Amino acid sequence: MSVQENLQLIQANIMEVCSKTNRDPNEIKIIAVTKYVSTETAQKAIEAGIEHIGENRDSGLNQKWEVMGERAIWHFIGTLQTRKVKSIIDKVDYIHSLDRLSLAEEIDKRADHIIKCFVQVNAANEETKQGLSVDEVVPFVEKLKDFPNIRVVGLMTMAPFTDNESVLRETFSKVKKLQKGVQALNLPYAPCDELSMGMSNDYKIAIEEGATMIRIGTSLVGKEF
Ligand SMILES: *Cc1c(COP(=O)(O)O)cnc(C)c1O
Repeated sequence: MSVQENLQLIQANIMEVCSKTNRDPNEIKIIAVTKYVSTETAQKAIEAGIEHIGENRDSGLNQKWEVMGERAIWHFIGTLQTRKVKSIIDKVDYIHSLDRLSLAEEIDKRADHIIKCFVQVNAANEETKQGLSVDEVVPFVEKLKDFPNIRVVGLMTMAPFTDNESVLRETFSKVKKLQKGVQALNLPYAPCDELSMGMSNDYKIAIEEGATMIRIGTSLVGKEF
């Protein structure tokens, strides 16, 4: 199937889930994750109507940005090494992987404008995953007051790799609950009204549980490498 056809299918699924759960489909943004595909294929996503592009490596982001920088809104979605911040900071609109103070400090220092950040949560406490544990999130967000270039627009999570629906649902709903906890702090730099959750295999459940940004790679643009 073409990227265009994949996108139509995903949009139809979004409509279906939204009507089932009484959500406004305009609330859901699709980020095309292009880490496994060429710049050429990434451009096909833009031509199909995608506005948001996500990359998890500074090299992949820079390569694609050189060619199509002006045509997309850029999301850095992967583990971000502190020393790599400098090479991406002027190109990204969103960083989805804020998980430590040293990274906040570096983003704040290198940025010349406010960067929209998601605090990454390891909601299922998996050893292999990055992110703060649920209990660490509120104290961490409170400490971010010292960094004027950081805005906490939301929370991001990656669910366990499973097709066990109740495990997925429980993970996403935990993060939704945590979002309410952060919002209740009423911090001007942490509106936290977005939830970045859901990938190719679990985005429908993520939307049911409150996702506003879904990060879709394989089932939208495919996998070339
Ligand atoms: C690769 C990746 C995705 C997309 O994964 P697919 O299963 O291909 O949709 C989403 N989020 C993050 C953080 C990723 O690294």
